[in-house]
Amino acid sequence: MDTVYLDNNATTRMDDEVLAEMMPYLTTLYGNASSMHTFGGQLGSKIEEARQRVAALLNCEASEIVFTSGGTESDNAAINGVLAADTAKRHLVISRVEHPAVRTTCQLKRKQGYQLSELPVNAAGQMSLDELAGALGDNVALVSIMYANNETGVIFPMERIAEIVKGRGLLLHVDAVQAVGKLPIDLQRLPVDLLSISGHKLHGPKGVGVLFVRRGTRLAPYLTGGHQESGRRAGTENVAGIVGLGKACELAGQHLDDERRRVAALRDRLEAGLLRDCAGARVNGDTRNRLPNTTNISFEFVEGEAILLLMDHLGIAASSGSACTSGSLEPSHVLRAMGVPYTCVHGSIRFSLSRYNTQAEIDYVIREMPAVINRLRQMSLFAQGAVDPEQAARFHGMWDRVGSQS
Ligand code: PLP
Repeated sequence: MDTVYLDNNATTRMDDEVLAEMMPYLTTLYGNASSMHTFGGQLGSKIEEARQRVAALLNCEASEIVFTSGGTESDNAAINGVLAADTAKRHLVISRVEHPAVRTTCQLKRKQGYQLSELPVNAAGQMSLDELAGALGDNVALVSIMYANNETGVIFPMERIAEIVKGRGLLLHVDAVQAVGKLPIDLQRLPVDLLSISGHKLHGPKGVGVLFVRRGTRLAPYLTGGHQESGRRAGTENVAGIVGLGKACELAGQHLDDERRRVAALRDRLEAGLLRDCAGARVNGDTRNRLPNTTNISFEFVEGEAILLLMDHLGIAASSGSACTSGSLEPSHVLRAMGVPYTCVHGSIRFSLSRYNTQAEIDYVIREMPAVINRLRQMSLFAQGAVDPEQAARFHGMWDRVGSQS
């Protein structure tokens, strides 16, 4: 069997139709869209077609779409652009589970003297809306809350969040990188000011994204030196990428309903199978409000990296909730914010599916995983009682709470 790819929240396979639509712009039609001559200038209409296609998926105006290099740039642009446009307001409000593209950018702002509120989440990964409302003072420059979490798939109640933030007359940015293409989003109904998208998360190309900027939103240009994207984002357009993203959005709109159902059924089959057949397995996050393609499962007493390695030998690609960085195992800030116990947080695996997964693949994973987990658990010093998890947590010096998730 080829690789069973269950890491679609990291990146997705590009749709063949997307590639076909991009090919001319990677080969024969290589002009610069800003050129005076027809060879380059003709590309402008293709960029505008892509803008229309993105706008159609989001139900917004094409003029509100700014093409960027991806989700990270869109998130940075929203935060930096808003702060630069109104230097009087000095307070940022985010959740504790934001993607680093938002979180690290805001933490950097804190070092530069801004106030930063990071709203906690409960064991299900949900935030208290009362706490959100309580954090919204007059000095707030921007509230930035993700639509759906990349690690757990947990969906925040965005309509209610928008109601609260806009009710206070404040600016709201939404990192919708994981939501667009998986959930319907209607920006006529959802009154957010700024919204980030990434091409490679919805079967489009890498290195291209979108920042939706609602008409009238004050956002300072953040890349200067050219007139492109109405002066908001200078730089020669990534024509092939933009065309590909436009096509990916068109396809996402066409397949959204069918795929949501099909992928969710496969995800549920995988989750049920793993919970049934693997001892000490538990799901992290609010299972009622979750992306259709994601499940985050902790396998108690085993290391996520070890699980991934054995899965890799079996041709299964997924990702772990902890990243091995600079020699220390740093547990995921998302699972930590949710209070997932120490003995579970290290053994968490994110399975994220796409329209390309089949039932045969899911059944293969269900069949193979119990042996992987059993083998590692037999080696686990925690499982054998040889190491006290509480002591280990303290040794790592990064864990305030070892207890169970309540
Ligand atoms: N925001 C979220 C929620 C993400 O999941 C990601 C990518 O993993 C990003 C932002 C960054 O997007 P990109 O890879 O396009 O820079």
